[in-house]
Amino acid sequence: ERLVTASADDVERAAEAALRPRRLDEFVGQHVVREQLSLVLEAATSRGAPPDHVLLSGPPGLGKTTLAMIVAAELGSSLRVTSGPAIQHAGDLAAVLSSLEEGEVLFLDEIHRLARPAEELLYVAMEDFRVDVVVGKGAGASAIPLALPPFTVVGATTRAGLLPAPLRDRFGFTGHLDYYSSSELEKVLHRSARLLDVPLAADAAAEIARRSRGTPRIANRLLRRVRDWAQVRGDGRLDLAAARAALEVYEVDPIGLDRLDRAVLDALCRRFGGGPVGLGTLAMTVGEEAETVETVAEPYLVREGYVARTPRGRVATPAAWSHLGLEPPADQPA
Ligand code: ATP
Repeated sequence: ERLVTASADDVERAAEAALRPRRLDEFVGQHVVREQLSLVLEAATSRGAPPDHVLLSGPPGLGKTTLAMIVAAELGSSLRVTSGPAIQHAGDLAAVLSSLEEGEVLFLDEIHRLARPAEELLYVAMEDFRVDVVVGKGAGASAIPLALPPFTVVGATTRAGLLPAPLRDRFGFTGHLDYYSSSELEKVLHRSARLLDVPLAADAAAEIARRSRGTPRIANRLLRRVRDWAQVRGDGRLDLAAARAALEVYEVDPIGLDRLDRAVLDALCRRFGGGPVGLGTLAMTVGEEAETVETVAEPYLVREGYVARTPRGRVATPAAWSHLGLEPPADQPA
């Protein structure tokens, strides 16, 4: 697995649990969403009723799950966790909904991946606090309405645009999480270092933050790798030299590119004179599937302005040439 991927497997999620902020005031950055959410939660608490349903959108690793846990903690309620792909049939969702207790928070991760029948069941449950339990089959089937106690759905999605409008409309509050600045990631790193009980120097935190692609999950992961290096090869201190040496071992470069990212830039510039070149050809040159290049390497390279996607193919920008220490050709399109 890549060290700079924004997604996490179950083993990593377990390691992350210790580093999760538990309350809203420990949650670093995202000031707008934090302020809005804090109003929603405080108002609901003072009314003594569950808040509106909350939708959180944004790329992976930016804190949607953490915020869902914080919502439950701030409300003093428990959190039930499921996800779009985990719900195969509408009946699975009906079972979860009908077991909810009053005021509970239901976290629905990857809500855009719910199957249509489950989605329709969810509309009704969110709006009317009711599920219609279907008994029987065919012409003899009938729906028995089952009242649910009031609860709050926190939905998370990386693809808010894929949510059908009726589902989106059921959320009283939508918060969009954006990439973190380096100084925010430094704060995340210092907090994590305190929790892991490792001495992290300020310049080392800045160095790790710069290589973390705006994502707290990646920052925490790089911190763990630097800690390993410091323990095994260094003197235990996480200083600038340790951070640089560790991240060199793991091939994460000064702006957070890994080997695949650099191979793509290198092929674009050195092999294809900066492009334009088709995705398939580019992928073949770096020995990867087109889909891997498109979904794994490209999003960050495009977001950071190293690669441009044009109708005629991928093009290296002047920033890409300069990152590789190369001069762009005179006729290179800007
Ligand atoms: P996914 O969509 O992949 O589940 P996510 O957006 O739900 O990702 P989280 O699991 O909430 O991301 O966060 C990943 C890690 O980053 C967690 O360990 C969490 O502690 C840390 N983290 C995220 N946001 C913040 C923040 N604002 N402050 C401190 N730590 C954070």
